[in-house]
Amino acid sequence: MGAFVVCVAASVTPMDLAELTTLRLGGPARHVVEVTTERELIEAVSSADGQDERVLIVGGGSNLVVADEGFDGTVVLTRTRGISVDSDACSGAMVTVQAGEGWDDFVALAVGQDWVGIEALSGIPGLAGAVPIQNVGAYGQEVSQTIASVRTYDREANAIRTFAAADCGFAYRSSRFKAMPDRHVILSVMFQFALGDRSVPVAYAELARTLDIAVGHRAPSTDVRDAVLDLRRGKGMVLDADDHDTWSAGSFFTNPMMSAVEAAALPEGAPRFDQLDGTVKTSAAWLIDHAGFSKGYGTGPVTLSTKHALALTNRGGAKTADLLALAREVRAGVEAKFGVTLVNEPVLVGCTLS
Ligand SMILES: Cc1cc2nc3c(=O)[nH]c(=O)nc-3n(C[C@H](O)[C@H](O)[C@H](O)COP(=O)(O)OP(=O)(O)OC[C@H]3O[C@@H](n4cnc5c(N)ncnc54)[C@H](O)[C@@H]3O)c2cc1C
Repeated sequence: MGAFVVCVAASVTPMDLAELTTLRLGGPARHVVEVTTERELIEAVSSADGQDERVLIVGGGSNLVVADEGFDGTVVLTRTRGISVDSDACSGAMVTVQAGEGWDDFVALAVGQDWVGIEALSGIPGLAGAVPIQNVGAYGQEVSQTIASVRTYDREANAIRTFAAADCGFAYRSSRFKAMPDRHVILSVMFQFALGDRSVPVAYAELARTLDIAVGHRAPSTDVRDAVLDLRRGKGMVLDADDHDTWSAGSFFTNPMMSAVEAAALPEGAPRFDQLDGTVKTSAAWLIDHAGFSKGYGTGPVTLSTKHALALTNRGGAKTADLLALAREVRAGVEAKFGVTLVNEPVLVGCTLS
């Protein structure tokens, strides 16, 4: 039996993308295929490519905004599983995780196994295959700090390609995979972890305060995970079906990066974080709040989260058009007040902010 037959057997059609995204938004997909092995994943994508069919890979749907019109192509749900470990006292643990493994389950496993370096990335929704795409980060850690390599199916070359971390183009919420969205299917990610029960040095002031340590100090990894989960819950950043503040795609805008001259023009009190390359990062949440969009802003079916000004949330019964309208309003307000154009963090499918 060919893998194509397996793919057809796993078809789930029709389906609204709203059922597959944490925003619970998005119209119908023409065809949905669920794949559970690497071979099925490659064959589902290459077979659609061979028929000039558009492809949308969906993991946990937590960084996706899909148009109300839906997606006229094949949606491939990555449900491939498996984690393999090669561990020794000298080089630490080399751990390979298949794309369909749940990210936070993997973080919990890492903390339990004394694999150090992703404890502050606790509570981020979605699947492991997506984490290299925007180089997920939170509370002073980025996933690129522990990734050793990323195994991909290159749709253009019709070949398997493995990229060492240095070749992944990792940057703030970006990578070569994000820059070339229709080219690479992430099959698995290999991490290299140091071993130990204490975290890497805590780099985020709010987290350090919560742990009652100084920035740059270590804490038990389990404490770091617990503290991060508590902080995230307080901001509506841990999925909870009963809490509309979490019906979101997380932060809707990235933190703007600017030149030192541009940063100097921001009002007093605006956060400024110097970057190694000489640029300065400011806080999108601060800009939004100080442009008059405070937590809970909005009266329609989409509002800012009541816990975090940076998350746009579906209060129930919303359409993607409602979300885009509020996103445009916020972006225009920030631009008018500060001259800074916010950039969306989630991937927009079939829609734009312009
Ligand atoms: C409440 C909440 C909190 C969040 N907090 C954070 C945070 O703290 N930090 C952070 O960085 N992000 C955060 N996010 C965003 C999101 O969780 C991450 O970007 C996550 O890695 C997305 O994973 P996913 O599996 O849901 O990807 P999806 O939303 O399914 O997909 C996102 C993009 O990646 C592509 N993709 C997915 N899997 C693959 C694959 N195997 N191969 C090729 N392309 C693929 C999709 O086509 C799409 O373009 C948050 C989101 C929510 C809802």
